[in-house]
Amino acid sequence: MNLLLFGAPGTGKGTQSSYLISYYKLIHISTGDLFRKALRENTELGLQARSYMDRGDLVPDSIVIALIEEVLSPISGRIKSFGDSRSTDKSVDIKSHKGFILDGFPRTLAQAESLDSLLDKLKLILDAVLYLKVLKSVLVERIVGRRVAEKSGYVYHVKFKPPRQEGICDKSGEPLIHRNDDKEEIVKQRLKAYWKQTTPLIEYYRKKDILFELDGCGSPEEVFSRIKTVISTFDC
Ligand code: AMP
Repeated sequence: MNLLLFGAPGTGKGTQSSYLISYYKLIHISTGDLFRKALRENTELGLQARSYMDRGDLVPDSIVIALIEEVLSPISGRIKSFGDSRSTDKSVDIKSHKGFILDGFPRTLAQAESLDSLLDKLKLILDAVLYLKVLKSVLVERIVGRRVAEKSGYVYHVKFKPPRQEGICDKSGEPLIHRNDDKEEIVKQRLKAYWKQTTPLIEYYRKKDILFELDGCGSPEEVFSRIKTVISTFDC
């Protein structure tokens, strides 16, 4: 089962991805996480992406597409036994991953078209696009209050999910940071980029008949329960 988790920044894609990957044994592919790792490690990719991310703009398509090709190609070998994921053959090694989840990619039509070609080449299918919908007014508050433990990836919120000790991750003991691009001015730019460049994908996937719209409001558990219900209608 190969999924795309779609929605504006702040809709909870990262949180839902963490539920999905452990529940369904999926590989998580987040371009945002890959860029942040590259930034921390000062790699060429990080240098290329930094100025765009700092402004809240999208990284150019050519860079993102090359990155996703590099990541997805070796992964396809690990899930290839699954073949056509719509197949009725359920003889899948339960220890292996049962597919992937794309989080934060694609974000433009050019990226979506490149993804289609890449999946064709790798003989993989995108089974569903789970579109998390959250009111615009809620998004800014959700993102601006977010605090993250960079290394372990645990996520908190100053109001909705505060750590036991302010500024410290309950689980890893790491200091929590306020991501530069989670600051209000940058968040507004990220949301603008989403409305302008990413929302056309809703129609793109609706036409392919693989778009599932979900209410992204409520607790993470409530949202995940809605996701499971949707997946149960097409699980393969
Ligand atoms: P995210 O954590 O997914 O919101 O990504 C953080 C930042 O990384 C975005 O604001 C963009 O600057 C960059 N980024 C992540 N994924 C993409 C993508 N698919 N296309 C262009 N830029 C991206």
